[in-house]
Amino acid sequence: MKEHLKSDLAQIDYLLDLIKKQGVEYLNSIAEQPTSVNDIPVWEKQVLPESGHGTEEALKIFNQRFKPTIVGSSGPRYLGFVTGGTTPASIAGDWLTTIYDQNTQSTKGQGDISANIELESIHLILELLELPHSFLGGFVTGATMSNFTCLAVARQWLGKQQGRDIAKEGISGTMKILSATPHSSSIKSLSVLGLGSNNIIRVKTIEGDREAIDVMDLENEITQLNGLPFILISSGGTVNTVDFDDFKEIKRLKEIYNFWWHIDAAFGGFAACSDAYKHLVEGWEYADSITVDCHKWLNVPYESAVFLIKEQYKMLQVETFQNSNAPYLGDPLENFGYLNFLPENSRRLKALPAWFSIMAYGKEGYQSIIDGNISLAKQLGHWLENSNDFKLLAPVRLNTVCFSLKDDEKQDEVGKFLEALNNTGKVFMTPTFYNGKKGIRAAFVNWMSTEKDIQLIFDTMNEVVKEIK
Ligand SMILES: *Cc1c(COP(=O)(O)O)cnc(C)c1O
Repeated sequence: MKEHLKSDLAQIDYLLDLIKKQGVEYLNSIAEQPTSVNDIPVWEKQVLPESGHGTEEALKIFNQRFKPTIVGSSGPRYLGFVTGGTTPASIAGDWLTTIYDQNTQSTKGQGDISANIELESIHLILELLELPHSFLGGFVTGATMSNFTCLAVARQWLGKQQGRDIAKEGISGTMKILSATPHSSSIKSLSVLGLGSNNIIRVKTIEGDREAIDVMDLENEITQLNGLPFILISSGGTVNTVDFDDFKEIKRLKEIYNFWWHIDAAFGGFAACSDAYKHLVEGWEYADSITVDCHKWLNVPYESAVFLIKEQYKMLQVETFQNSNAPYLGDPLENFGYLNFLPENSRRLKALPAWFSIMAYGKEGYQSIIDGNISLAKQLGHWLENSNDFKLLAPVRLNTVCFSLKDDEKQDEVGKFLEALNNTGKVFMTPTFYNGKKGIRAAFVNWMSTEKDIQLIFDTMNEVVKEIK
């Protein structure tokens, strides 16, 4: 064993203590960590060290070169994109994931059987989201990969409806995909899957500032397909205005027409945890597949999301993801292994942070995170609506505030305002474009955010907007 490896092994206790100390220091001051970097340093490339530095020295080098550019993205005022935080229990689970370093595939047999932990985590997530146990699920890196996984199985289903095995034969013929406001990652998935992003038939949205699907137009588009089966990508929370398609109506259509129903509920699915908002997802249990992100509202570290696909499609799923050297499987659930159920082969025990967090905080813990975030978004929305300088671009339906500068003449200043706001390092938001207007989005999905945070955010916004005038 080379010297540095040997000495690192001998002082692993000390090294992990250093990391723990640094971690605790960071977490204890996360609310004060700047949310953006104003002066990006110019880094000189390191030369490959000949004999290495050892971990302690590597940490020093890291701290000197990169640590100053780490932003408080899991802190309470990082509202850009849809960025979740990390609960203490999820950090504990994440550390152990690394330490145990399992390659999560199987539930039985010799060797690693950590897939049992993953299956139990899926079970807990289904309970948390009040979904039936007819879904078979697994963890992937994010909602993008979850959409990809679900749509890959949908593709196999669609081929089968027309007597083709797309996994074996490749794509031929036309594949019809209907959607109103698909997330960009679903469109990307269609590109990668060979379904073609141009092949989406755009269904109208409900009139009047809505992103939800117009069910009448949907039915109209369906009848024009003359009985051809298709894939429907529906939204359980759009990113701009958190609008939900009407799942009860889609369920009604599903009883009449033949289609694969996918729901992208990356963050909106967590409305199921809120007594006041769970009606938004009513009927979603009838979908064939659902995407739910965990690194957003479940507040576990990146990279974590689940796909939920009805177990009845297990053969289609295996046809899609079976490794070419895997033996014929019979009932794939008998000797279950994730290896033949999703895109990756080797994979870490991604479920563990989610397992820890759900076990640690339970249903009520998550209810309070979800309801708390929604009420903060509503409050900030209310202030903006009543201010002289800002206006809402859409009503605050759940946890996201989509707004702009009040004065329509000042469209050009929206970007300037946002840049100045983010430069304060006290809050981070992202730009958007909605209804032909430049806007800004603030998404609340962090367990730490409080009323004090939105007060500070609102004050900062008012200061910045005066400065740019
Ligand atoms: C965030 C998001 C995605 C993509 O998720 P990643 O985790 O970034 O891959 C897909 N759909 C919706 C609705 C989202 O909010």
